[in-house]
Amino acid sequence: METWQLILQNSITTLDGLKRQLDCDDTALGQVIANFPMRINPYFANLIQSPGDPIWKQAVPDVAELSDTVCVADPLGEENLSPVTGLVHKYPDRVLFLISNQCAMYCRFCTRKRKVGTARMRIDDSTLSAGYEYLRNHPEVREVLLSGGDPLLLADEEIGEILSNLRAIPSIEIIRIGTRVPSVLPMRITNSLVAILKAHHPLYINTHFNHPLEITKESSLACTMLADAGIPLGCQTVLLKGVNDNADTIKQLMLALLRIRVKPYYLFQADLTRGTNHFRTPTETGIAIMRKLYGHISGMAIPTLALDAPGGKGKIPLTPQFILQKGKNLLFENYRGEICTYPEAGEGL
Ligand SMILES: *Cc1c(COP(=O)(O)O)cnc(C)c1O
Ligand code: SF4
Repeated sequence: METWQLILQNSITTLDGLKRQLDCDDTALGQVIANFPMRINPYFANLIQSPGDPIWKQAVPDVAELSDTVCVADPLGEENLSPVTGLVHKYPDRVLFLISNQCAMYCRFCTRKRKVGTARMRIDDSTLSAGYEYLRNHPEVREVLLSGGDPLLLADEEIGEILSNLRAIPSIEIIRIGTRVPSVLPMRITNSLVAILKAHHPLYINTHFNHPLEITKESSLACTMLADAGIPLGCQTVLLKGVNDNADTIKQLMLALLRIRVKPYYLFQADLTRGTNHFRTPTETGIAIMRKLYGHISGMAIPTLALDAPGGKGKIPLTPQFILQKGKNLLFENYRGEICTYPEAGEGL
């Protein structure tokens, strides 16, 4: 067995494990775990500095997960947008293809909390074959976004097989993998995995870091190995109450990502997923954070703040309002709050 598999095997998955390893004896959490799976692997558990800190909040269940009466099981309407099991076709030219139901750590705020890590998420040879068939019949799809669960929790051979099956479909130009492995189980990024990924370019990876404490020696090495294999790395961060919902934390995270060659891609407003309402922030919080980033740090470190509209309406950018007035002279505010103008075409200064 590989090192990463051994580490996973020692994950905290039960109430008893929480008590023994994290000294948490809240018996009410038993019911939470019965509803939504828990897996806190030793690597991620070691990043916890104190109970209730930003790492803890992402990994350790909370009784609030069971009292959420506001949110819904499938906020993005993914099940309705799936022509075949596990493939979500929402946009004209790209699809989301779910190829794994396992994660290295079950994030408490997960959008697919309704099924990830449970028997309710069925992925097998027949769902994969139906996905390939759909893609062969839909040549307008030029990009496939592999997700789950976490695609990189599959065995090397399975990943290799899926990638070569996709590469056998000529209309697929780009393969994108969404994975949290670099931040929650970086030792999964092995030389043999990297060799497989590298053989299927153009391949992009969007990873998922939420807090500067996740940037460690190990996660930096994982990203270095991927970047050295020519894989462009992006990051999809989720804005989470009590975890990273302030400008200083987000700024530190984005700058740290850039240092390990990960380009911030999206900063997501939390979805309305049942069991995660306690993580949601007002949209104004995210917009105010973005206002403190633009112009103040490298443009390369700036993600797009976006919300994924309920019911599968798609991602919508949330941008601070810089434009104050339109007309022959565009009136706007700059990053320092100074009022500036720009004469439109045909006008002069
Ligand atoms: C987010 C998402 C994508 C990718 O959107 P981008 O803006 O290209 O990152 C594709 N399909 C589905 C169903 C999605 O939810
Ligand atoms: S890694 Fe992604 S899919 Fe898995 S639990 Fe976390 S947010 Fe959900």
